[in-house]
Amino acid sequence: MPESSPLFSLVYRSEASRAVHEVTLGALVRKARLYNQQARITGMLLYAKGQFLQLLEGPEPALSDLYARINDDARHYDVTTLSYGPVELRSFGRWPMAYASVDAAFLEKVARCLPKPAAVGLTAEPCPEVALLLRDFAKEQEQAQ
Ligand code: FAD
Repeated sequence: MPESSPLFSLVYRSEASRAVHEVTLGALVRKARLYNQQARITGMLLYAKGQFLQLLEGPEPALSDLYARINDDARHYDVTTLSYGPVELRSFGRWPMAYASVDAAFLEKVARCLPKPAAVGLTAEPCPEVALLLRDFAKEQEQAQ
């Protein structure tokens, strides 16, 4: 889809609060997808043993507004920004928020190889872990249709 304003991308990680588990996350993800869709924000959220890793991409200021709300959310803490800046292309353009529960080692690998601002996006050459995620997300999407 053509972008109407400059595209930014954000990656952060955080620790889930004790009350958060995969069941409560289902509701969070459903609500987030609705919001992201109307704000033209796309991305993915990974959850592994109490840790979150999220990539979000979209127009400013929608992205920074959302990040401020996410930062204030009591369902997680120690929110650490790994990268934030302009990108040329969306890496998760098909997903208002893809979600996967993964193991901790996989989350670490993805944290190291997610596309950084100024990179041209995953269409260039996703690392094997992210390529695997994209394949799984696409499969889920096809099954849901
Ligand atoms: P409100 O819905 O008014 O909630 C205010 C506060 O109440 C929240 O900050 C939270 O601390 C608490 N709260 C709200 N609902 C619940 C609940 N069901 N259980 C327990 N506490 C609750 N939102 C998006 O729109 N898009 C995203 O991509 C996105 N990603 C997120 C990723 C993570 C890891 C987390 C923890 C949250 C994410 N959210 C996302 C939710 C986001 O933080 C806000 O809750 C949401 O944007 C609504 O904002 P609000 O100010 O209207 O909050």
